[in-house]
Amino acid sequence: MAARIIAGNWKMNGLAAALPEVAWIADAARDMTCVETVIAPPVTLLPRVAGHAGITPAAQDCHAADAGAHTGDLSAPMLAEAGARAVILGHSERRANHAESDVQVAGKVRAAWGAGLRTILCIGETEAQYRGGRTVEVLARQLAASLPEGATPANTIVAYEPVWAIGTGITPREDEIERVHRALRDRLASRFAQGGEISLLYGGSVSAENAASIFALQNVDGALVGGASLTAGKFVPIMNAL
Ligand code: PGA
Repeated sequence: MAARIIAGNWKMNGLAAALPEVAWIADAARDMTCVETVIAPPVTLLPRVAGHAGITPAAQDCHAADAGAHTGDLSAPMLAEAGARAVILGHSERRANHAESDVQVAGKVRAAWGAGLRTILCIGETEAQYRGGRTVEVLARQLAASLPEGATPANTIVAYEPVWAIGTGITPREDEIERVHRALRDRLASRFAQGGEISLLYGGSVSAENAASIFALQNVDGALVGGASLTAGKFVPIMNAL
């Protein structure tokens, strides 16, 4: 059985004034024994999020090199030292805003593993690809090219995030999510010895309203949540739904 995980991606949101939300989320997380709660705050808040028992602190990106002349970038060992235990990689906003390719993402995954960070690898099709019926083909290509050899349930979580569902309030139909997760599960299981147990998260407009029905789908082991992870009032009900 894959571990059940709820991850909050704060993106470029959160000043110190938001830290009470983390404390409330941590309080709820400590009561939940069979669900892992991950929070990926901006790096500025990472050490303080890492101070809360019950939460797995995560970063939102890392460089593929451990050190060097890369102004403004942060390496996986730096993030680990700042308290991260996981890192989101290949998010569609990074792929779009920073032109990250699958090959670059794979390099970051290797760097993260090397620093002892678990990777939350994001893959997802655009609206045009979805409309063209190419979802599974696109995801298979992204998964093959951005997840290197050596993935295990201990070092990897995969998040399926349709680009068109992120921040839009729109989600795929439940049968579509289930079909995609089945296809991803099959690919992970055929490629990696323990691929059947790698957690598969759905992401994109997850809310307190739709979480329970999404979590009831086969091969959905949790969610990667953006907007609704910023406040405990919205995030804790999603944690409870899992
Ligand atoms: P959303 O974002 O929940 O706000 O749609 C999800 C994500 O980008 O990870």
